[in-house]
Amino acid sequence: MDPFEDTLRRLRETFHAGHTRPAEFRAAQLRGLGHFLQDNKQLLHDALAQDLHKSAFESEVSEVAISQGEVTLALRNLRAWMKDEHVPKNLATQLDSAFIRKEPFGLVLIIAPWNYPLNLTLVPLVGALAAGNCVVLKPSEISKSIEKVLAEELPRYLDQSCFAVVLGGPQETGQLLEHRFDYIFFTGSPRVGKIVMTAAAKHLTPVTLELGGKNPCYVDDNCDPQIVANRVAWFRYFNAGQTCVAPDYLLCSPEMQERLLPALQSAITRFYGNDPQSSPNLGRIINQKQFQRLRALLGCGRVAIGGQSDECDRYIAPTVLVDVQETEPVMQEEIFGPILPIMNVWGVDEAIEFINRREKPLALYAFSNSSQVVRRILAQTSSGGFCGNDGFMHMTLASLPFGGVGASGIGRYHGKFSFDTFSHHRACLLRSPGMEKLNAIRYPPHSPRRLRVL
Ligand code: NAD
Repeated sequence: MDPFEDTLRRLRETFHAGHTRPAEFRAAQLRGLGHFLQDNKQLLHDALAQDLHKSAFESEVSEVAISQGEVTLALRNLRAWMKDEHVPKNLATQLDSAFIRKEPFGLVLIIAPWNYPLNLTLVPLVGALAAGNCVVLKPSEISKSIEKVLAEELPRYLDQSCFAVVLGGPQETGQLLEHRFDYIFFTGSPRVGKIVMTAAAKHLTPVTLELGGKNPCYVDDNCDPQIVANRVAWFRYFNAGQTCVAPDYLLCSPEMQERLLPALQSAITRFYGNDPQSSPNLGRIINQKQFQRLRALLGCGRVAIGGQSDECDRYIAPTVLVDVQETEPVMQEEIFGPILPIMNVWGVDEAIEFINRREKPLALYAFSNSSQVVRRILAQTSSGGFCGNDGFMHMTLASLPFGGVGASGIGRYHGKFSFDTFSHHRACLLRSPGMEKLNAIRYPPHSPRRLRVL
């Protein structure tokens, strides 16, 4: 007995009947999403606090408001995005109509992770619905409170004939992936990304893979260490470091490291007080498995700041590690927690070489008062996104695509990029049945004279 068969058949029937194609239907779904966010704001904040100890501020800026912003943007631009895009023509097609039609793929599967369990579920959903698809949403089973709200409340706001939430962990998701979808949008680890891509390949289903990795952050000697420390501490310890675009490690000279350490300590104390465990602004590790993994990483190098942990509370203090070897686990795996190792390099050349001999990251950061240094790192490296003299902020712009490159992912979304990701760009040429004489030149038999005319 296949638990998904009926649901998937129902959604396919809706799609084939054409119900999801009209702009009015799409707009109604987007408005429904907006109402879901407004009506359930407190419930969502409570669920995020239960799952990750997120403060109301973090929940609002990184989950609810971002999702709401995407809904508003899509509603405002829906008709413009849906319009056929007319393209330049050649001599032979001057009298014809040539355009790109953005049409929905059909039945789309969205698989989400636990670290921003609302944002990373709803933002792709906005794109999929705006593009006129039917959607199966698979939230993370690990962020249980948000999973419950999504399963119980969200379907009430959307047309059930085009949308379904499916629950489960690896086993159920594996079963779901045996089915044929028209598009799969996955956010999660590179390990599971490979499983998803392998399953998709069986049906030749196109995928977007939003994956993770180790994001480098270079700090030049020509910097104000306190400004760097404020920004780095903010975006490393946001959501207890469980952010795919967080800086995974710092690269700087030993001199800059000496100046940065007291500045980082000062920023951490200002943000979270003398006892960060009692701060309402610091998140917790999602579960015991992740906690144990992170606690083991505290044994790498030497603890310069923090290092405390409390298993009962799944608490790990904002930590900075120094004297770390490249071969240690903290420099081999994605950290995904409030631990920041510092690696020493002698200048920008060595930093670029260090970055380029590793997998291409999702995000790359460079701090310097010299715009030449920042632009050099930008020019001589590759990453999904890049932000000079700050972190995270590049992804607050819906006008920029968000996604990885190489091992950090395939594809992009946010704003119009989401709409385009979930739309097939169909190449259309509408020709006239007349003017047959003009077309005769291409029909055989061909003479050498014709070749000269071409
Ligand atoms: P994960 O890969 O373990 O799980 C993601 C989803 O896949 C979940 O819904 C889960 O149920 C499902 N899943 C897990 N194992 C599976 C299997 N064997 N077969 C099929 N499905 C399976 O990731 P996670 O632990 O939830 O999230 C952390 C990872 O996600 C990190 O690597 C992080 O960098 C990455 N991430 C990337 C982005 C991005 O936008 N690029 C955003 C957030 C997180």
